[in-house]
Amino acid sequence: MKILKTISTRLRAIIFEIGLIVLAIIATNVITIISAKNTLQSTVINDINRVVVTLSNTIDATRNLKLEQLNKNINVADYILKKHDLIEVNEYSNITVKNQNTGNKYLTKINKWKYNGKILQYDESLVDEIKSLTGTNVTIFQKIDSGFVRIATNIMDSSNNRAVNTYIPFSSPVLKDINKKDRFIYSGRAFVVNDWYLTSYKPIVINNEVKGLLYVGLKEKELGELKKTFNDLNIDKNITPFCIDRAGRMLIHPSDSGENISNLEYFQHIIKDKEGIYKFYDEDKKDYCILSYKYYSAYEMYIVCSAYQGNFLDNFRREIINTSIVAGIITLLLISILIFFFTKTINALHNAVKDLSETNKELLTTKKALQQSEKLASMGQLAAGIAHEINNPLGVIMMYCNIILDDSDENDPKRKDLELIVEQSERCKKIVGGLLNFARKSKVNKTNINVHNLIEKSVKSLLLPSNVKITTDFKIVDPFMMIDIDQMVQVFTNIIKNAIDAMPNGGHVDILTEGNENDVCFHIKDNGTGIDPKSLDKLFEPFFTTKGKNNGTGLGLPISYGIIKMHKGNIKVISNTDKSKGSTGTTFIITIPRINSEV
Ligand code: ADP
Ligand code: MG
Repeated sequence: MKILKTISTRLRAIIFEIGLIVLAIIATNVITIISAKNTLQSTVINDINRVVVTLSNTIDATRNLKLEQLNKNINVADYILKKHDLIEVNEYSNITVKNQNTGNKYLTKINKWKYNGKILQYDESLVDEIKSLTGTNVTIFQKIDSGFVRIATNIMDSSNNRAVNTYIPFSSPVLKDINKKDRFIYSGRAFVVNDWYLTSYKPIVINNEVKGLLYVGLKEKELGELKKTFNDLNIDKNITPFCIDRAGRMLIHPSDSGENISNLEYFQHIIKDKEGIYKFYDEDKKDYCILSYKYYSAYEMYIVCSAYQGNFLDNFRREIINTSIVAGIITLLLISILIFFFTKTINALHNAVKDLSETNKELLTTKKALQQSEKLASMGQLAAGIAHEINNPLGVIMMYCNIILDDSDENDPKRKDLELIVEQSERCKKIVGGLLNFARKSKVNKTNINVHNLIEKSVKSLLLPSNVKITTDFKIVDPFMMIDIDQMVQVFTNIIKNAIDAMPNGGHVDILTEGNENDVCFHIKDNGTGIDPKSLDKLFEPFFTTKGKNNGTGLGLPISYGIIKMHKGNIKVISNTDKSKGSTGTTFIITIPRINSEV
């Protein structure tokens, strides 16, 4: 019952606790989501800005890697060219050359070059061999009066022919740059024939004179490659990255690649700046769209990232709910552990208080017993003193009375009085003897004896009225123990006599014994009148009797008490006088330890 109560208290506490936590979580979520709406826009802007910067940096990094690769490839090309023994021969040919920037053509004369005995001009095999080894486009230029002309190349012109005979004029930035440098090397972007390339140039020196240029290059803006880069970055699916050129053509877009958006309002806005943020309301999606854009000049395009605010809010909501569920579970666990330990402590405290009150009760009983024995001890001393003083005069009285009786005549009328004096003096002597016995501090004279035999002997010595039956139930396995035979006989006879006195209309006395290796226990039970609760307190006081002055001395129980104490034992009384509570009667329980010598 108590356990059930504790469990239900704990359960109630836990249910209450769960309720509180759920409320707290809901409240926190609502507050967080409301306040998040305000900060959400800046979060979205931060996120898309970051993606734009990342994309721009990634394109830069890819370009730098390509340039590095080209710088290695130009050396490979140079090595191959040198291995094939390039020489200039004393033969000329007239060719029409075309300015790659202006398209202007004119006729000019060039020296023939040979490698491995073959004419190099318009030869495809050497440049294609280098291309197959390096993976890059290759051109061999020969110096002419107005610039450098392509004499062998695998760069294609707009009509998909090899772009031979086109030349770079001295005025072009690449050649200006090459001329500036001592080592005559160029690495960077260059406009080649009709598109921008990442390039690397190296001079061709014949007879200690720069007679030409060797070129390797890769198309700078490979859209396929760029798209792959975008995909590889694993960008948040709520952010859409795309690239637009200045004309409004979608260069890269997850779904709308190739479309022209030049008439859209947001493009008109973007084109005004190099970089920035733009927010507009999308009627189709019924949501605010935020754009971050940056112009990537090398590719002449805008890198743009767009995001819808609503998607972010949904995501954010989901994240908050998930986080708070986890936090809630952790809090729940922690509080449950706390409650568990708290109730455990309370239970322990409860038990401690219970133990304490029990100890207090025991202490009170012990105190009462102590007071009782102190009282009895001081009464004993007093009684012993008085008894001693009375004993002598009483002896004298009896002695003289007996002398007078002996001397008196049989028919002397005083004789009756004298006999009364002797009789009453005998009674006094008995009382005095009893008092002395009660107060006696004399040592017990112990003998090893079978207590069952001793009880039987005590019963036999009594004069039993015909209407009283005595039954015995001996349960002690080893009935032998060290006790003072005479004194214990006195105890048993006193108590059995009292029981008989309490049953004027007859009844039965049941004597039961039981014991273990430490103690033996005697129960003497009658079904007499019982002892009323008030008398129970005085039972062991000397001279307490309910039998009237002539019948009782009130010394039987105090003497028995003294004897039992001398055997280190205990005596207890259970009694009932109230018929409504069951049959009336009294039980005396005497416990004596098997080891009972004085230490
Ligand atoms: P006495 O027998 O001389 O009265 P005791 O000390 O033997 O003196 O007993 C004291 C009193 O205890 C008795 O007068 C009686 O009232 C009560 N008493 C003792 N034993 C019983 C009993 N078994 N049933 C009822 N009363 C008892
Ligand atoms: Mg008695």
